[in-house]
Amino acid sequence: MSDVTFQPGLWYSVTAQDVSEACENYNQEFEVNPCYSNGGHVVVECGLCQAPMTLVSATLLDPQPQMP
Ligand SMILES: [Zn+2]
Repeated sequence: MSDVTFQPGLWYSVTAQDVSEACENYNQEFEVNPCYSNGGHVVVECGLCQAPMTLVSATLLDPQPQMP
């Protein structure tokens, strides 16, 4: 579970932690920047084990990046 909440439709810098004990990335933290919040529900998957990572923190980007 995560305490991180998102407003929908905005860009964030997100820190996520792998919580799969079997994974080489276990307990490692990864920064995802920029990360789009979609409808307010963000899932960051591990590139190795494909499991959803626990979101540690999220910072609203200011200014918001201009995406084409
Ligand atoms: Zn993993």
